Amino acid sequence: MTLRWHCEGDLVPVFRRGAFRMLDLLFPRDCPISGEPVDNVPWLHLTNTGLDSLHRVSAPHCETCGAPFFGVLAGPQTCPHCCDLSPVFDRGKTAVVAKGAGRRLVHVLKYRQGTWLARDMARIILTTPGYADFLDGAVLVPVPLHPHKLHFRGYNQAELLVDALAALSPSLRVARLLARIRDTATQTRLGREDRAHNMENAFALRPGAVVDPEARYIVFDDVFTTGATLNACCAVLAREGATRLDVGTFAHG
Ligand SMILES: [Zn+2]
Repeated sequence: MTLRWHCEGDLVPVFRRGAFRMLDLLFPRDCPISGEPVDNVPWLHLTNTGLDSLHRVSAPHCETCGAPFFGVLAGPQTCPHCCDLSPVFDRGKTAVVAKGAGRRLVHVLKYRQGTWLARDMARIILTTPGYADFLDGAVLVPVPLHPHKLHFRGYNQAELLVDALAALSPSLRVARLLARIRDTATQTRLGREDRAHNMENAFALRPGAVVDPEARYIVFDDVFTTGATLNACCAVLAREGATRLDVGTFAHG
């Protein structure tokens, strides 16, 4: 495993620049997409070449899940990802397509202990057209992991992303309202119907958590695949009185 330094916070800029240079000499940072050395502030671990190879999502896209549409649209379109979903939430937004470079970032964050990527991935989200406005003033609710999976992985990638978003964007608040009460089978090999079934009764409100019916909640996850996980989380919040629910993800696909 590559040793990486990660430094952020309130160091004065001059000292911070010097500290970064010193750490770069000791532990050179290579972009996990391009493989090139990183030296493009404010990005911590991504080069411009790596960033340019991401497929960023911009309009037109599905209002429910954020999936990009290609070409000129004559009117409202039904996204094939959402046609069977019956979403409990109103709108969804995503930053990149989960193929190629986008998939690589999710994979490193999730399966390669890439916690150091969360800040840059949050910056990608905030620089995606329309995403900062979509998030503005919302309360971010990370999709929880079951304690067994959390113990195995050591962190929850959805929590890392919302914490990094809140650190970069002070208007955002984070509320860990949900708990995963059933250790569900991994979703990756399941079809759409099986995923929805797999999520039944998987989530609950955390003990002591309170839902504010006036708040606008955005349930957040790393990837939108079928929407079954995000929809199950939103259903719990809706049952507990939430009236304004949206979903956000880093990647789609
Ligand atoms: Zn959709």
